[in-house]
Amino acid sequence: MARLGAGLDADYGRARYCKPGAGGKPACRNLDDLEHVLARSRNPDSLLDAWAGWQAIGAPMRDRYTRFVTLANAGARQMGFADAGAMWRAGYDMPPDSFVAVVDKLWEQVRPLYLQLHAYVRSRLVARYGAARVSPNGMLPVHLLGNMWGQDWSNIADLAVPSATGVRAGPDLSAILKARRVTPVQMVRMGERFYTSLGFDSLPATFWERSLFQRPRDRDVVCHASAWYIDDLTDLRVKMCIEPTEDAFRVIHHELGHDFYFRSYKDQPFLYQNGADDGFHEAIGDAIALSVTPRYLVQIGLLAAEPAPAADTLQLLRQALDHVAFLPFGVTIDKWRWEVFAGKVPPAEYTKRWWQLRGSYGGVAPPVARGPTDFDPGAKYHVAGNVPYMRYFLAQVLEFQFYRSLCRAAGHTGPLYRCSYYGSKEAGRRLAAMLQLGASRPWPDALETLTGQREMDATALLDYFQPLMVWLQRQNRGRPVGW
Ligand SMILES: [Zn+2]
Repeated sequence: MARLGAGLDADYGRARYCKPGAGGKPACRNLDDLEHVLARSRNPDSLLDAWAGWQAIGAPMRDRYTRFVTLANAGARQMGFADAGAMWRAGYDMPPDSFVAVVDKLWEQVRPLYLQLHAYVRSRLVARYGAARVSPNGMLPVHLLGNMWGQDWSNIADLAVPSATGVRAGPDLSAILKARRVTPVQMVRMGERFYTSLGFDSLPATFWERSLFQRPRDRDVVCHASAWYIDDLTDLRVKMCIEPTEDAFRVIHHELGHDFYFRSYKDQPFLYQNGADDGFHEAIGDAIALSVTPRYLVQIGLLAAEPAPAADTLQLLRQALDHVAFLPFGVTIDKWRWEVFAGKVPPAEYTKRWWQLRGSYGGVAPPVARGPTDFDPGAKYHVAGNVPYMRYFLAQVLEFQFYRSLCRAAGHTGPLYRCSYYGSKEAGRRLAAMLQLGASRPWPDALETLTGQREMDATALLDYFQPLMVWLQRQNRGRPVGW
């Protein structure tokens, strides 16, 4: 199983899409190249070519993945679980079936918002690509969504955000950072200051000596951002190649969230030195990143004044293209994998079932027919690399739940999305109390410590996007919703 797993993981990392180029010599592109096409091109033929080229890397993995599933299940059964999916679900401190019910409840809460976003984006895609390519009442062709898997639509913000209104969607933080020549280290210092403003201790000197903030000139490194602790939970580091962009600024706050979590539970017994569950660890930094609002940028002197409220809805739309568009994707990866581990899907139908779930939850479809020898799930890293995925869906819900509680602790009034709890010692005290628990208590106890709630609850996400929901419903009036 380890050999198969390592092989699938390595194949994914090495995969290229090659076709005859100039002079008949094969021209090959890696995932970075193809993702760049998906993000930037607006030519449907180029998009289809790049999308289908990458999906094709899955097919050679299918037989090995099938064998991998058999072995993973055998191991899970030896440890007393019905199958490997049940073993994964057992990590959530509740009976596996109850956990499925929790996920389903959260999805039902957010589904109406997703349907409105889907209908609105569909109308913009019809306007751009025509009804022959995008059915006005059907599913969205996945290759037109700006992302290889259709899981994040922020790269098509230029198509989705109406420009005719003349309203800018919020301040351009990337431009501000560039104009002020803010260095990577200064950006990390700003991130650290958010946490110290809440009452956390500043990062140790070793963090600044041993982290990697810039792409080195003399060697190759994996630039995908990550947070680390080495040997013990005081040697904290981050590894990322920081550019002066809004995205990087948010990612810094996200990664530091991992580091401050590591340090907060360092005095727990070894087995409890972990997040309350795997969704919590991702959600901490994201709840901080949500606080990177215009008000916060004013507080730290990067922005002179908050933008007029007229820009708010468009700013929320930009955020929804990331946060809301992701939700059905976040649900379906492990819905599919749980069925596969449970033996409910024969290997010849792996890809068929994958697209059935992507269709029924997200209303997203492949642009060309998929056959029984295709293995499109293998073209997603977390399937080839066998990384559980439901954590990312839970984190999307939890980050808003944490954020709302931290805003309340800070005494915020007014629309939730405008809140920044920067500088609130009370918010910091509540957050620290939860982080210190690590994995020593079941996650509902940890959740209650911060939020007073024992259940995961998507109403905070809905509160946050409420003005957008109203706006989308108005935009969609007279248009079909759903598929
Ligand atoms: Zn993370």
